[in-house]
Amino acid sequence: MEKRTIYADNAATTAVSEEVLAAMLPYFRENFGNASSIYKLGRDAQKAVETAREKVAKAIGAEPREIYFTSCGSESDNWAIKGTAELMSAKGRKHIITSVFEHHAVLHTTEYLEKHGFEVTYVPVSDKGLIDPEDVRKAIRDDTALVTIMYANNEIGTIQPVDEIAAICHEKGVLFHTDAVQAVGHVDIDVHRQGIDMLSLSGHKIHAQKGIGALYVRKGIILPNLIHGGGQERGKRAGTENVPAIVGLGTAIEAATCNIAEKNAVITPRRNRLIDGILKLPYTRLNGDRDKRLPGNLNISIEGIEGESLLLMLDMNGICASSGSACTSGSLDPSHVLLSIGLKHEVAHGSMRLSIEDDITDEDIDYILEVIPRVVDHLRKMSPVWEKIVKGEKYE
Ligand code: PLP
Repeated sequence: MEKRTIYADNAATTAVSEEVLAAMLPYFRENFGNASSIYKLGRDAQKAVETAREKVAKAIGAEPREIYFTSCGSESDNWAIKGTAELMSAKGRKHIITSVFEHHAVLHTTEYLEKHGFEVTYVPVSDKGLIDPEDVRKAIRDDTALVTIMYANNEIGTIQPVDEIAAICHEKGVLFHTDAVQAVGHVDIDVHRQGIDMLSLSGHKIHAQKGIGALYVRKGIILPNLIHGGGQERGKRAGTENVPAIVGLGTAIEAATCNIAEKNAVITPRRNRLIDGILKLPYTRLNGDRDKRLPGNLNISIEGIEGESLLLMLDMNGICASSGSACTSGSLDPSHVLLSIGLKHEVAHGSMRLSIEDDITDEDIDYILEVIPRVVDHLRKMSPVWEKIVKGEKYE
């Protein structure tokens, strides 16, 4: 089979689409005005920002005035969590609930707050990568300020019972934030119907550029500013608006959410073919619930190999994938997500995530299913532990 390039890492980032680029271009040179300026160039920019705000709001079932543009998903998470912490601590509420397998944009923020006098409860996840809403209920206290639980996990793609968790939070009078960076564009979201108080999203996961995001804040919740300065974003988030990026996000989210069911009908069977094909290899397992997962996500552990070596060899064969491991300051730490669902360190190390979209063809799937067994076989033959695994002996 001839060599090709297959991008199967859309959960990491996506390419800016032609449609998004075309929508953005006029705002770099022709309509470059500052959205706060009074003359036509400025007014046009302001209008474009408000049109994009309407599109973002419509895509998630919110009102335009509930949408604040930010620089990324991480900023949205930081603002929602630190902002609520500040707001509620004034009322004596200094307890936050989150889960053990959130993105670091959430976990490092709650860790920061722990150093500043807040208490945080980290609810566990099951071996299928799902949070039990009853664990959230049990963790809620009189002084709980916020529950923040991700909509869909970025590594194993599992979709959380957000509606049930939101209902529990409301019953108990606690605010609920969800990091929906991986979910937007892949599952139908309606924040009002679902009872979500705050939601973070990011442009670069849905074919907008990197460096643009948004935070939905239900009307009536007055978060303190994260960035102080000018009066942009109704005085809540200072900084001259990044008009091209905002316009791009509006176009991208409209495109990503207009035909979710049709896209998923194409992606899911292809994703399932990949899962079934890879699981034919011995000593492999699918990480995360098979059904309650993002349509394009598969995360598989392959015993007897190192995830990083597999990725390098996939790259040599033109396949862009990602591993469950994060390389931090020279030491290879296994993913906290994979450990949270009960994987042993050595198994977590041999994991791989593919995140596909509807542009992937049946031929691409054939090619991936031809390359992976060949590469795995090669790596296992060189592995010092493979023989022990097959013999059922202990290894580390
Ligand atoms: N939250 C989740 C679940 C993510 O997957 C990511 C990015 O990978 C982020 C937050 C951070 O988004 P951004 O890269 O826009 O800061």
